[in-house]
Amino acid sequence: MVGLKRLHALWQPSVQVVFWGGAAQLVGKDLAMSLTETAAADSEPIFSDAIKRLDDAFRYAEIDDEALLRLKHPQAVLQVSIPVRMDDGSLQIFDGYRVRHDDTRGPTKGGIRYHPDVTLDEVKALALWMTFKCAVVGLPYGGAKGGVVVNPKELSRLELERLSRGFIRQMADFIGPDRDIPAPDVYTNSMIMGWMMDEYSKIRRQHTPAVITGKPIPLGGSLGRDEATGRGAYYCIKQLEQRRGWRPEAIRVGIQGFGNVGQAVASLLHADGYRIVAVSDSRGGIYKEEGFDIPSLIHVKNQSRRLRAVYCEGSVCEAIEAETISNETLLELDVDLLVPAALGGQITAENAARIRAPVIVEVANGPTTSEADEMLRERDVLVVPDILGNAGGVTVSYFEWTQNRQGYYWPLEEVHRRLQGIMAREFDAVYDLMQRHDISMRTAAYVHALNRIGSAIEAQGTQRYFRDNLNAG
Ligand code: GLU
Repeated sequence: MVGLKRLHALWQPSVQVVFWGGAAQLVGKDLAMSLTETAAADSEPIFSDAIKRLDDAFRYAEIDDEALLRLKHPQAVLQVSIPVRMDDGSLQIFDGYRVRHDDTRGPTKGGIRYHPDVTLDEVKALALWMTFKCAVVGLPYGGAKGGVVVNPKELSRLELERLSRGFIRQMADFIGPDRDIPAPDVYTNSMIMGWMMDEYSKIRRQHTPAVITGKPIPLGGSLGRDEATGRGAYYCIKQLEQRRGWRPEAIRVGIQGFGNVGQAVASLLHADGYRIVAVSDSRGGIYKEEGFDIPSLIHVKNQSRRLRAVYCEGSVCEAIEAETISNETLLELDVDLLVPAALGGQITAENAARIRAPVIVEVANGPTTSEADEMLRERDVLVVPDILGNAGGVTVSYFEWTQNRQGYYWPLEEVHRRLQGIMAREFDAVYDLMQRHDISMRTAAYVHALNRIGSAIEAQGTQRYFRDNLNAG
């Protein structure tokens, strides 16, 4: 857990905020700012790194600088402590955050992650990326993100349920179907979303499925949501295939992260004939020159729950022959396409020069630091940025929310067809912008998003609009 003590120490004495006990505190904009600066100075400056990219893109966007100013400041930050009665009767307190970055284009949207390394600074960066992700693919949403500092693998299922319901109780006034709509992220899943939806509905005393997406199908989830992030990345790769004239059999792919998302990308690419030569999970990876048979790999992984078992445990050992590699080595392999689908901060200034793949499709959030970005760009490595590469997840979340509100559910083909339409259209728009301005695909994605967000902000009036009026009057 991030020490409450540490955060208290960072706060200015004039700021009186208490988040012990049951009461959640809404941290307003000014306080959010003082917390931003101190938190960023203390931990890795992910949020300032995220802001840097806005400045780069702003030069090519057709928006007022007031819009940029607004986007550099998250709208609201909620910090809570969640008391949980553990199975042994003891009480543990977990820190939780929810950040709503910008709601100009609609209610805010974004996942909740459970991870021991969650920090407020990271959640803020992730919320900002959600604003841009939703805008890149044209969804009528702003961006948000949540996180709880916890290692969920150390909790029993009952403890996890209590924690998830507890977090919703603290956030109930901050979220809502027309305000802020959470979803799954790292180490949260549909079951957890189901508990959260149920808790929220109990608090509101009405069934409210549209408050959260990524729910189990019987509780109002959408068909196709579970593999949507991977499928969205796959549709991006299909656009690349067309543009670059790829023959799938000739394309060697390395995938870092073999959870839900990595597996979906791998299966879809494998079915089209791509050679998936390397995959890894948090415990390490495996490499095979000829490429893996992905369905059997998934079967083995899900039975044993970890990749190493594929080659190192008993009978399975004989079933699949492969070379053991580390997660770091995977990134540096001689492959044609690299897919980082694990955590953020994987490609940094330290290893960027050793990356050999000419094309990277980011499926994790924030796998490349801005310094590494520069280095890759100098070497003409094409990076399909996270805010486009993994936007399939939130897109089908949007479909789920729409279906919940309509009370009318779509068949799977409808979900796929609409997702494909959006991903292909927005991929092409970003690719064309990249070529037109001779900028990186990441900058192009930000420009595309900034134009949408900026025009919404400008529609409410900027200094130019109000000043002209004053002069006229
Ligand atoms: N956590 C996912 C993301 O980072 C999905 C968010 C959502 O569906 O709202 O895009």
